[in-house]
Amino acid sequence: MKVGYYPGTFDPITYGHLDIITRAANLFDKLYVAVSYNPIKNPLFTTQERVDLVKSVLISIENIEVVESKILTVEHCKQLGASHIVRGLRAVTDYDYEFQLNSINREISSEIDTVFLMTQGKYSFLSSSSVRELAQFGGDISSFVPDIVRIAIDKKFGR
Ligand code: ADP
Repeated sequence: MKVGYYPGTFDPITYGHLDIITRAANLFDKLYVAVSYNPIKNPLFTTQERVDLVKSVLISIENIEVVESKILTVEHCKQLGASHIVRGLRAVTDYDYEFQLNSINREISSEIDTVFLMTQGKYSFLSSSSVRELAQFGGDISSFVPDIVRIAIDKKFGR
């Protein structure tokens, strides 16, 4: 059985992530979507809120399991029996960071490989941080995130 592992902060999950996730779910028998605890990034949503949102958005995809991650990605992959990490690539600006991350992961654990999926053009500008910023100033984020996420964001900003 081929098992994949898609890690992210998902603060919040966007249509860009969803695009990568649905495509990755077709490549693997089972796909773990791992929500990182990541306190360094000082997330808008708590880990539990991010896990719950990701779960609600992905509820209809059967071969996906949403988990929380507090440990190194490669260690978590080994624990869960995943052979591949999945990452999404937007513009060239993602490349440097992803190249570094991949090199470090390969150094720590050569048996876990990373596969990259290119985003669809229409999501290439989309990031969780731009959604958060737009929402903070009352902008319309309905074409970037599912309704359930939009409602949760509105609530966060007291609307
Ligand atoms: P991280 O903190 O690990 O970068 P993110 O939640 O920001 O977590 O992103 C998780 C993964 O999803 C990364 O591989 C990122 O490049 C990818 N990603 C984010 N937004 C998009 C998008 N619009 N299209 C494709 N991939 C994306």
